[in-house]
Amino acid sequence: MISRANQHVSILCVTDLLLRILRCPVCRASFDAEASALRCQRCNALFPVVDGIPRFVPAENYATNFGMQWNRFRKTQLDSHTGIPVSADRFARETGWSEKTLAGKLVLDVGCGAGRFAEIALGAGATVVAVDYSSAVDACKANLPHPNLHLVQADVYALPFEPSSFDFVYSLGVIQHTPDVEKTVKSLVTPLKPGGELVVDVYGKDWKSWLHPRVWLRPVTTRLDTSRLFRIVEQTVPTLFHISNAVGAVPLVGPHLRRLVPVANYGGQLALSRAQLTEWAVLDTFDWLAPKYDQPQTAGTLARWLADCGLVETKVFKADHLTARGRKPSSGR
Ligand SMILES: [Zn+2]
Repeated sequence: MISRANQHVSILCVTDLLLRILRCPVCRASFDAEASALRCQRCNALFPVVDGIPRFVPAENYATNFGMQWNRFRKTQLDSHTGIPVSADRFARETGWSEKTLAGKLVLDVGCGAGRFAEIALGAGATVVAVDYSSAVDACKANLPHPNLHLVQADVYALPFEPSSFDFVYSLGVIQHTPDVEKTVKSLVTPLKPGGELVVDVYGKDWKSWLHPRVWLRPVTTRLDTSRLFRIVEQTVPTLFHISNAVGAVPLVGPHLRRLVPVANYGGQLALSRAQLTEWAVLDTFDWLAPKYDQPQTAGTLARWLADCGLVETKVFKADHLTARGRKPSSGR
């Protein structure tokens, strides 16, 4: 016979931690967990929980390409898969957070994709709530079967969390692909605890960024059906990769010319095998050409947004991408 206590456990469709901090994106009230859904205690809104992941967004949305991308290239950028610390190094350079900073802390990863950075934060001993707008949350779940990982499919503009819940919030490789980048940055501050730190990175905008091949290809590629674009990228990238390498070998001007070839070539930058470099090239070339939004920013703009949010100890600097850090003032300051 099943005891009442066991019955209670069996109907909890999400983790205790999520149930504690999740709030209705409509009215901000708490949820009751049902068999496969969360029901708002106040407005009765019902949100499905599929594979243990609460879903607060329509299945098809502006980020569908990312869902396809991250389920297809689920492991490509994971350090545990490549065997080299590409993601760990970028995470450390951009956030400045170490194991000492993160151990035992509650961290929000917005735009987790397949989980390349969530893997690093989990490895540092943090409890991570990872959010994505797309079905990438499913890839992340399959990649990182970790007891301290809690996944949510949600909209950055309607993050379903109790405000001031997280010690750290980061969003890396994401915000340029949202419809309103300023609003995105401001949305990331609300879930932070007073004293908590935010780190974002974004494509930098300067005169050189206009030469990037994605700028002149995207007017065409963003109009193509996502699957069709993927097939084109998959078929052309190996040849383009070849051309990119040949052009790059030209003395003196090679590195500059290489940037004009529309393929993401990390040869000479990352210690990946030839097969891995080709796989990263397909993934990131698609990542350049498919997103509906691609909105690089300047350092000045980022700094102004952080100040507008009331963040202190802010720092904007060039790391792998243009990176911004800031701290939410502690209460009473
Ligand atoms: Zn509600």
